[in-house]
Amino acid sequence: MTWSVLLLGGTAEAREFAERFQHPNLKLIASLAGVTRDPKPYPCDTRVGGFGGVEAMAEWIEQNRIAAIIDATHPFATQISVNAHKAADQTGILCLALHRAQWEPEGKWREFEDARSLAAELPTKSRVFLTTGRGELETFSARTDVGFTLRSIEPITDLPNNIKDTVARPPFSLEGEIATLEEACITHLVTKNAGGARPAKLKAAHTLGIEIFSLAMPPTPHRLTAGLVTEALNWLDRFRL
Ligand code: NAP
Repeated sequence: MTWSVLLLGGTAEAREFAERFQHPNLKLIASLAGVTRDPKPYPCDTRVGGFGGVEAMAEWIEQNRIAAIIDATHPFATQISVNAHKAADQTGILCLALHRAQWEPEGKWREFEDARSLAAELPTKSRVFLTTGRGELETFSARTDVGFTLRSIEPITDLPNNIKDTVARPPFSLEGEIATLEEACITHLVTKNAGGARPAKLKAAHTLGIEIFSLAMPPTPHRLTAGLVTEALNWLDRFRL
């Protein structure tokens, strides 16, 4: 039976890695959390859904003859990265993280360690464009003196009165982002500092003089990291069983 590489996905980099992966004696298996409905398929075997924690992941790694893990999950998906790190250690395999460089602040920009401290600093009567997903909504909605427009890929129901949902899928153009921010009279853009390719929303906010409040990127638990897909592919090229 062939050995495989486990690719933890859910990002554009993971997809690019899968598209460019070629190896003489290793197969690629992608793993997705299963949170997005109808995700675009990866060009390799794909499993969907959580493993069930560290022990179950370690068991899965052994059963499926996994030789190495590439953790290409989102930098804010901290649980799966910690689990992958521990499961790799337990099973004695290497785990390489595709780790993005953070965005450098530009213009009116403040960075916060967590959503609670960020929410506390939003001025009364500010009009906030929330691009941090469905997490921490309770923290934001508690600011009843602030109006929020939440952008989500899929509709979110039962939102509190001060949070309005707008459903849209990337990619977003600069013109489109400027129009969105202007239309809703936004005063503050709230984002995760997710790093990597700089999205148009940052430039749009900067152009309009809108203040950016970002959540700091959490540290990676991994010892081995690669900044680019090419580096990760080169690392695997040198990997022989
Ligand atoms: P998380 O908090 O780190 O993970 C929660 C649980 O979901 C994990 O413990 C694991 O379940 C399962 N899981 C997550 N990613 C998985 C994967 N690639 N394959 C199999 N199981 C996975 O993750 P999250 O923040 O909910 O994000 C879920 C997925 O969405 C990630 O794969 C990530 O790359 C992608 N994503 C996240 C964000 C973000 O801002 N967080 C943004 C864009 C994309 P078990 O413990 O049962 O194994």
